[in-house]
Amino acid sequence: MRGLVIKSTGSSYIVRLDDGSDVECRVKGNFRIRGIRSTNPVAVGDFVEIKIQDDGTHWISEIEERRNYIIRRATNLSKESHILAANIDQAALIVTVNHPVTSTTFIDRFLATCEAYRVRAVLIFNKIDLLSDEEMAHLAELQALYESIGYQTIALSALHLQHPTPSTLDSQLSTFHPPFPSGEGRGEASYTLHQILQGRVTLLSGNSGVGKSTLLNALFGKEMTRTGKISDAHDKGMHTTTFSEMYPLPTEWATSGWLIDTPGIKGFGSVDMEKEEISHYFPEIFRVSSMCRFGNCSHTNEPGCAVQDALVKGEIAISRYESYLSLLGDCAENKYR
Ligand code: GDP
Ligand code: ZN
Repeated sequence: MRGLVIKSTGSSYIVRLDDGSDVECRVKGNFRIRGIRSTNPVAVGDFVEIKIQDDGTHWISEIEERRNYIIRRATNLSKESHILAANIDQAALIVTVNHPVTSTTFIDRFLATCEAYRVRAVLIFNKIDLLSDEEMAHLAELQALYESIGYQTIALSALHLQHPTPSTLDSQLSTFHPPFPSGEGRGEASYTLHQILQGRVTLLSGNSGVGKSTLLNALFGKEMTRTGKISDAHDKGMHTTTFSEMYPLPTEWATSGWLIDTPGIKGFGSVDMEKEEISHYFPEIFRVSSMCRFGNCSHTNEPGCAVQDALVKGEIAISRYESYLSLLGDCAENKYR
């Protein structure tokens, strides 16, 4: 039997079978995947083969090859890692211009990590109802910046997102554009969100307080019980074992597609990057770096650096360059670990 792992509890897994039913499965103790030293051999998003024992228990006997996976180190010093999710189509980061402020460094680290994993990235700017005119202008600048690099962005207010009912959707999907009832641009945000999520497996991340729970509740039209929510608060500085969960998008929103809720973003950006690789994960920096005089240019103080030129001309944003430097700095630090 084949199925999709939709939840992990540490000792067992919930697997959705092709017929839509869920079964609880265990994994043999000696089950290990070659090449990955991880604390969890099976992750949410994995397609697995299941065998039923004589006593009726289900065992995962095989994991299908992964298209991709997102890991984080179990702890900073540990070489063991924890697979957050497998086979994802895109990662969406919820950010807020204010309440709380999300730093561009944080955003850029997330984006660079997505580049390293070769996963499409989307930025969801939330709480726009709270922004002043000045902050709205800043939001527009940020959206323009990230869109110009090639990342899709959307600005919305999760608190005011309209949850379409099946009946309104039925009548409107085919006839209206956007399909959701509009009001102060809310219908439009709903429509864009629908387009982003439809048919895809999306990993949802965000610092605590940015409105991830609120967005999930708005999407599902009900209070979601979230595994990671409690441990988020306890996760300050110490390691707690937390697990991802995968939810099928409600049919009001999409005919297919999944959301993966990862508890706690902390550590998402801890993919091991080589110093020389970092510029590859900033697409607009990488694009001009081919014109640098030296092939091994670090774009910091070398003569004939095309990146520095582009920076002076305003073709590369200072905030992006600073994030690049901050990742370079991490590499230097890691040497002394
Ligand atoms: P989480 O930690 O990311 O899950 O954040 P929550 O969903 O718990 O939201 C944190 C706080 O921000 C709560 O008080 C929410 O009501 C509030 N909030 C979330 N989204 C919005 C929004 O779009 N507008 C406003 N005004 N408040 C929001
Ligand atoms: Zn250079």
